[in-house]
Amino acid sequence: MANIKKKHELNVEGQFYCTDPDDDDGEGCIACSVCYMGAPDFFAEDDMGNAYIKKQPTSPEDIELCQEQLEACPVNSIGNDG
Ligand code: SF4
Repeated sequence: MANIKKKHELNVEGQFYCTDPDDDDGEGCIACSVCYMGAPDFFAEDDMGNAYIKKQPTSPEDIELCQEQLEACPVNSIGNDG
């Protein structure tokens, strides 16, 4: 589960968030690009390639799309309990 105390500073407020690459629990973003390639309307990359949420999903379809990115993230760096 993503560490809610290690949110990337660029996340917009809301349900979904990405965590910083320096998450001490070893679950920080590793800049693999899966989420921002899979859902570019909602996930973006910073200058280092690390992900953050640029827009929160509102429709059931978009929430499902973001949830799919959460499940695809290889290091549990996406949370939906924000
Ligand atoms: S899928 Fe996970 S590790 Fe990959 S860029 Fe997104 S948040 Fe980072």
